Amino acid sequence: MGHLDHIKATDPELFDMIRGEEQRQFDTIRLIPSENYVSLAVLEATGSILTNKYSEGYSGKRYYEGQKYVDQIEDLAIARACELFGADRANVQPYSGSPANLGVYFALLKPGETVMGMALPHGGHLTHGWDVSITGQYYRPTQYTVHPETHLLDYDALRDQAKKEQPKLIIAGATAYPRIIDFEAFASIAKEVGAYLLVDMAHIAGLVAGGAHPSPIPYADVVSTTTHKTLRGPRGGMLLMKEEVADTIDRAVFPGLQGGPHNHTTAGLAVALKEAATEDFKAYAHQIVANARALAEALKEKGFKLITDGTDNHLILIDATSRGTRGRKLAKVLNRCGIVCNMNTIPFDTRKPFDPSGIRIGTPSITSRGMKEKEMVKIAEFIDRSIDILMDKDAQKLVKAEVAEFCNDFPAPGIRLGDDE
Ligand SMILES: *Cc1c(COP(=O)(O)O)cnc(C)c1O
Repeated sequence: MGHLDHIKATDPELFDMIRGEEQRQFDTIRLIPSENYVSLAVLEATGSILTNKYSEGYSGKRYYEGQKYVDQIEDLAIARACELFGADRANVQPYSGSPANLGVYFALLKPGETVMGMALPHGGHLTHGWDVSITGQYYRPTQYTVHPETHLLDYDALRDQAKKEQPKLIIAGATAYPRIIDFEAFASIAKEVGAYLLVDMAHIAGLVAGGAHPSPIPYADVVSTTTHKTLRGPRGGMLLMKEEVADTIDRAVFPGLQGGPHNHTTAGLAVALKEAATEDFKAYAHQIVANARALAEALKEKGFKLITDGTDNHLILIDATSRGTRGRKLAKVLNRCGIVCNMNTIPFDTRKPFDPSGIRIGTPSITSRGMKEKEMVKIAEFIDRSIDILMDKDAQKLVKAEVAEFCNDFPAPGIRLGDDE
């Protein structure tokens, strides 16, 4: 029996698509820093019959009957989340990272009140008050940037801005910031102006869990995260809360913002949190950072300019113009070479967001496949070679075949190619 036999029988068209994607995930060097490979255990929980159950409300206070096991599962996920991160309270119901943030807004702000978050082109997320987002339209955003020269967070400038703008909520956290974030500094600024502090650790939750990045938990009123990035769980969101704000935020998530929780996702999260509490995961988190450092060094040797000249975490921002190309072009060529990343603005980018100067790469996925520093040198070579063949599609195909060969030596968690034979 192949692992997708039932889909194959019911829906061969869809089967081909899933198999195609599975093969792609196996044959490519996946460098999108927000992606990963979940374990078979997480996949099984996520694909389980828990998807059949409705359970609006919270454990012990549900609106429908039949919650014996769902309550146990949600309690388990919450207990593991609190234990792993040292949080007072956890809410594991947000459908994803964006709704988790919206829940916090809805709990702590009234429409029109001021929120201070990092500007999207400087590494912030849409939900940190960017103008196209509901968070930038229903609230009053004031956005901070990185320092014009160092491209680092500038805590003195942050303090001045917070004093002037008097935000009700300050958000720390990013999607494209390659350095350690000083949560203590954010907390002291928030305290000074009487704002709540939300830390959005979506990208780095796995690093925090594994001790490879300082934890925001002692400093933030609430920490939001996705569960599917470095944390290596199912797609979802989670909130870790101080006791004082927890009840309000729980009510904002349900019934304020959402309906029934996705119990299959909660179960997948419970498994992922158990995995994340192991020594193996600690080693994984530290290897992600070691790999990112090694990859950054190897790229610099090839003449690539990196934003902030390197990395402290899992991601690297490359200024593609330093090698005579641009982000969109380089991302597309790399994809044809079997190396998958995303184009990205760089701080103070003079190019447009749909054709920016940079690309963003990261090491969580390749580290899940067991790649180490030695492989980072090889990957930097592949990236370097792509620059010489920007216009040569035949040469790109050859590199793609070489990349697939290279990937073949590194088993990918959760990928079961061959089980169908
Ligand atoms: C990924 C991300 C989110 C949003 O997560 P979704 O699950 O895509 O909604 C929010 N904040 C940050 C910082 C992120 O990186």
